[in-house]
Amino acid sequence: MEEFIEIAKKAQENAYVPYSNFKVGAVLITKEGKIYTGCNVENHGIMSICAERVAFTKAISEGERNFTKILVIGDKDYTTPCGYCRQFMSEFVNKEFEIYTVYNGNKTKKYLIEELLPQSFNL
Ligand SMILES: [Zn+2]
Repeated sequence: MEEFIEIAKKAQENAYVPYSNFKVGAVLITKEGKIYTGCNVENHGIMSICAERVAFTKAISEGERNFTKILVIGDKDYTTPCGYCRQFMSEFVNKEFEIYTVYNGNKTKKYLIEELLPQSFNL
């Protein structure tokens, strides 16, 4: 996890957050071990996009469909995906997909999508 934390921190540095000043970075890992990063990008007037969705949309636009885990790091401990991202991710992940949040600098806590989004909307 240490390696992924460092990669996520680098992505976090690129966050564009003139309104909240709250930087988030994410690193998404595919089944084949490929890595896609994301940072939050805010926008005046229209909906901002979170680091998790940036990572997912980068990967999906490159043809990726199988993901094993995502690690999210924010300016405070235990930054977890927002409700929008939880629903968004649920479209592309299975029950084994792992969601990691970071605390105390280099410690991680793991969640499964079911824990973060119980009884999710599903067609
Ligand atoms: Zn979000």
